[in-house]
Amino acid sequence: MQEVRIPLSSLARRVCVADTDPAEPLDALQRPLRDLRISVTDRCNFRCAYCMPKEHFGPGFKFLPHAALLSFEEITRLAGVFVRLGVRKLRLTGGEPLLRRELPRLIEQLAGLRSPEGEALDLTLTTNGSLLARQARALKEAGLQRVTVSLDALDDAVFRRMNDVDFPVADVLAGLDAAQSVGLGPIKVNMVVQRGVNDHEVERMAAHFRGTGMVLRFIEFMDVGSHNDWRLDQVLPSRELVQRIGARWPLRPLQASKPGETAERWAYADGGGEIGFISSVTQAFCGDCNRARLSTDGRLYTCLFAHQGLLLRDWLRDGRSSDADIAAQLRGHWRQRQDRYSQLRLQPGVPAAAKVEMHFIGG
Ligand code: SAM
Ligand code: SF4
Ligand code: SF4
Repeated sequence: MQEVRIPLSSLARRVCVADTDPAEPLDALQRPLRDLRISVTDRCNFRCAYCMPKEHFGPGFKFLPHAALLSFEEITRLAGVFVRLGVRKLRLTGGEPLLRRELPRLIEQLAGLRSPEGEALDLTLTTNGSLLARQARALKEAGLQRVTVSLDALDDAVFRRMNDVDFPVADVLAGLDAAQSVGLGPIKVNMVVQRGVNDHEVERMAAHFRGTGMVLRFIEFMDVGSHNDWRLDQVLPSRELVQRIGARWPLRPLQASKPGETAERWAYADGGGEIGFISSVTQAFCGDCNRARLSTDGRLYTCLFAHQGLLLRDWLRDGRSSDADIAAQLRGHWRQRQDRYSQLRLQPGVPAAAKVEMHFIGG
């Protein structure tokens, strides 16, 4: 149970507390809120050009000061409020989440949260895998259930070029092995495919992960943030990839396992396991998007492509707002949500706005 602090000072707030609406809100497009992605740091040890290009995120770049970051206690409190609104899945992300000091302590706290039905939440994390080999056991012991690891190539030279900090692929593969051996599965592996950059690695990646129990997912290169020089001609449509892979290893489509799933799932017909395609650009899946994102400094973004967020940190720190107050505000905010950027992206006349950077709100 979350603590509810009844504020004594303001009548308006008393009204909010009395108004403890138990309903799980639907947004303006009738979508529930199920998935909360929490960015625990805006820093990263990689400089993937599609996310944090070196030219922009160089040595002089000002990351958030420590005081601006939500503390673990603040994150856990907010996550508990989100659970009241319907969230059942928490994903830690960043930046690179494994750079956040003492992360297992946060995981322990989050693993203690329960749904109103008394069930543990789905608790997972997305990482570039660089620090996974040494942290996998502690993450598992703290209560993390599984991980998603980003890996854009198996060829060492291509991988070093893409992370742009000369990081060797072997260390990420060691991280994957460590995660698998401590039981942080089923593991998903995310590959962002950019035409002319790493698309020649697609079949090699598929061959490598077939039959391992890990699920490789190909992600279409997206126009997140304002600095990644996104071009539509660098997007390799998933449909093309399904054909390429299916020509080598016949595939059969799988049903979505739950509403709001980002990946289209396929199975190798020969029993080689599952493979997924995330087609945000060519087959938008806004229709059942049930995801919200909490930035490192405590802002709520209701879309990956949003340009402004709702600052929750002040409510956490004002010493007056109870969990019920915050829940009431968030419920109202979610009910107004109309985001569906991916459905609108390629429509004529949609103005290109400055979007929030992905390392700040997480993928
Ligand atoms: N640093 C961690 C990592 O790379 O896994 C977590 C944060 S990262 C922002 C989350 C995911 O977003 C990664 O799988 C990454 O590949 C993906 N991503 C980042 N920029 C992207 C882009 N422009 N298009 C598609 N996916 C992107
Ligand atoms: Fe870092 Fe992940 Fe962004 Fe790459 S995708 S720069 S690893 S946050
Ligand atoms: Fe959800 Fe926004 Fe992505 Fe659409 S564009 S699926 S609303 S995060």
